[in-house]
Amino acid sequence: MTEILPWQRGPWQGVQKRRAAGRLPHALLCSGVAGLGKLRFANTLAQSLLCSTPDGAGGPCGTCCGCRLFLAGTHPDFKRAEPDEPGKPIKVDSIRELCEFLAYTSQYNGYKIAVVAPADQMNANAANSLLKTLEEPSPNSLLLLVTAYPSRLLATVRSRCQTIAFHAPPRSEAVSWLVSQRAGQGNPELLLSLSDGAPLKALAYAEGGRLANRLTLLDNYQQLLNGHLDPILAAESWAKGDVAEQIQWLIGWHMDMIRLKIIVDPPRLLNPDLRSKLQTIAARHSVRTLYRRLDAAMRLSALSNTPINTQWMLETFLAGCASGS
Ligand SMILES: [Zn+2]
Repeated sequence: MTEILPWQRGPWQGVQKRRAAGRLPHALLCSGVAGLGKLRFANTLAQSLLCSTPDGAGGPCGTCCGCRLFLAGTHPDFKRAEPDEPGKPIKVDSIRELCEFLAYTSQYNGYKIAVVAPADQMNANAANSLLKTLEEPSPNSLLLLVTAYPSRLLATVRSRCQTIAFHAPPRSEAVSWLVSQRAGQGNPELLLSLSDGAPLKALAYAEGGRLANRLTLLDNYQQLLNGHLDPILAAESWAKGDVAEQIQWLIGWHMDMIRLKIIVDPPRLLNPDLRSKLQTIAARHSVRTLYRRLDAAMRLSALSNTPINTQWMLETFLAGCASGS
């Protein structure tokens, strides 16, 4: 079976208890920072409900007809709605199809299950079309919404779901898990520090040269602030990467620079490995300027979820930084 991650055992047992008592709600909202495996949890829960011979802990067997259909992506009682491309909105048509699907009777005489992820990427029309299904759910239907940003959901949607809150595990537990996953590159403490303590995000940082990209990006940013790099060229190159992640780095660097500026020797930084580089940049700028850039980076983060042109958005931000504002 797909393994329930160690820090998900509490939420898993909670759901299984409700299932055993016949009190599983019609809509669950899986909420928590990115990198805790919420979608994986929702999928495992869906599979376990469609499994004819779940194990003692309620997990799917992996071999029955229901499990095989689920794993092949062809189970007729399961559907998911997601954006066509990462970062784009979930279209209203996908949600309408999903609601229609939930209204029909199950093909296998069991649950009908739908997963919407990331649920915060439903646009207003899509979210509104989900409301009727949430208000008048069909019997034996379960809607699983997955989000790292519950506040971006319509309050009317949120209030009709029961929330399962996922939390990052204690640091020592997360370090042991990362080591067990052989996250060879990078120091586990640093990886967790860069990822809000979320183990799957930390594991992703250990792979694919993302830590090296982060260093290149900081050098790039430093060159731009020193007037050695054109903001338009910088924006062009940044726009080719994972913009949402780069903005999170910018936010983290500025938070650390402000700490370095106002506390003599801050005991903890989000980017402990970049302490001396960040100190060098911070020394050349006032706290006020750093706060202004932090605010601008946070606004950028909120905009990165909208259809606004990414390159233009980065150009505006970087040109502002290069001009000293
Ligand atoms: Zn099974």
